[in-house]
Amino acid sequence: MTYPTQPTASHFIDGTYVEDSAGTPIDVIYPATGKVIARVHSATPAIVERALASARAAQAQWAAMTGAERGRILRRAADLMRARNHDLSVLETYDTGKPYQETSVADATSGADALEYFGGMAATLAGQHIQLGQDWVYTRREPLGVCVGIGAWNYPTQIACWKGAPAMACGNTMVFKPSETTPLSALKVAEILVEAGLPAGVFNVIQGLGDVGAALVTDPRVDKVSLTGSVPTGKKVYAAAAAGMKHVTMELGGKSPLLVFDDAHLDNAVGGAILGNFYSSGQVCSNGTRVFVQKGIKEAFLTRLAERVGKAVIGDPMDPDTSFGPMVSQRQMEIVEGYIARGIAEGARLVCGGNRLNRDGFWLQPTVFADVTDDMTIAREEIFGPVMSVLDFETEEEAMARANATEFGLSAGVFTSDMTRAHRVAAGFQAGACFINSYNDAPVEAPFGGMKMSGVGRENSAAAIEHYSQLKSVYVRMGDVEAPY
Ligand code: NAD
Repeated sequence: MTYPTQPTASHFIDGTYVEDSAGTPIDVIYPATGKVIARVHSATPAIVERALASARAAQAQWAAMTGAERGRILRRAADLMRARNHDLSVLETYDTGKPYQETSVADATSGADALEYFGGMAATLAGQHIQLGQDWVYTRREPLGVCVGIGAWNYPTQIACWKGAPAMACGNTMVFKPSETTPLSALKVAEILVEAGLPAGVFNVIQGLGDVGAALVTDPRVDKVSLTGSVPTGKKVYAAAAAGMKHVTMELGGKSPLLVFDDAHLDNAVGGAILGNFYSSGQVCSNGTRVFVQKGIKEAFLTRLAERVGKAVIGDPMDPDTSFGPMVSQRQMEIVEGYIARGIAEGARLVCGGNRLNRDGFWLQPTVFADVTDDMTIAREEIFGPVMSVLDFETEEEAMARANATEFGLSAGVFTSDMTRAHRVAAGFQAGACFINSYNDAPVEAPFGGMKMSGVGRENSAAAIEHYSQLKSVYVRMGDVEAPY
């Protein structure tokens, strides 16, 4: 390995790095060059067993600590992550290919926000007292037990923390399986948590593909599964969890609409569309990939968009000036190229981009299609790459109907200077995370998650606590028991 801060083994179990080279090797490829930079091994059944046994064994004692004690550890871990942001960001850039310009502000920092937020919240978790005449009921907010987290490859550090932080704040333990494409960063999260004082076994990381994920999901010791991934994987994981009546959080894919009305601030709308399509080279679940532009500003919008996309700095992701990086993998690049070809074949107008860059690694140009219609493949399917589809519309009513005509419901945005319309449109969106005159903000204070096929449950905010804890009610009788016989 050629970079600092590398994890020292494939797995992190019971408070320490663990290797088992009997597992299938998984090469870690730096997307900017296509070169192998590390190798981890998929978890063998013995590793899966060790991780689950460790999480199970640690859970009761972790839950028995006070919320303040648990929270202090999470907050200390947040401080360590912030102090090491540079090294963690470099690692995240090697793991994902995302430019350092992004990773240094959106990955370890976002993970630290979650650890800090839920660390602070841990001491406030409480039940309720319900008076019933002389009798009363009190509720206890209890952890679920052992949680499994399964991650996608676009935000490996953030996903580990968004799942781990609320789970641990509530007194659960976790076995986290990162995506096989980006296995490195979650190991560093585990290492930092232990350095911050986390007891062994509370947060474990094991590597592997879908089979390892499936082994975790079906294990009877597991009480909850939180997945970030695609809808097809979500269906499988949800079904497997249902067989064991396990709790789930499903953070899945999207094909989100972004509505730009004639009265929108043009440059802000263009900026929102750029952020909502090309950040992380378009590999963001909540991206607004169907950009509906009202006819009156369509040409001005496209002209300004092409100008600004032309200014993207595509190059060495470690260079702080680089603003657009490679796709995460050869496979993902080929999938996206396939969609670009479909867009052209089905008659969309290519405004800019559309090609692979002639260099090592997995580079695609930021690509904009105009004159896209609702029935085209690029307007219906999640591409998960830097491909924006611009569609025309005339009326609000028409745009809303078309925006919602999708099985997905993760995000949606609107740019307009008419505030009444903005709130009406936001209310009408069938999506979990909506934006007015903005796009893709995901502060830890706000609930995040999808409607319809885009998911179940919410991450971040107080809402996440509901998905990592359960209520027990205890009825207390103060008088005699009156039985009929
Ligand atoms: P994916 O569905 O291929 O894989 C996600 C994870 O599930 C991986 O760790 C994979 O190993 C695991 N997995 C696969 N099959 C499994 C099975 N049968 N049982 C258990 N685990 C299994 O997704 P991806 O390609 O890694 O990520 C891209 C997708 O993730 C996109 O659809 C994107 O929209 C979605 N995503 C959603 C969010 C969100 O918060 N809503 C965030 C990021 C990415």
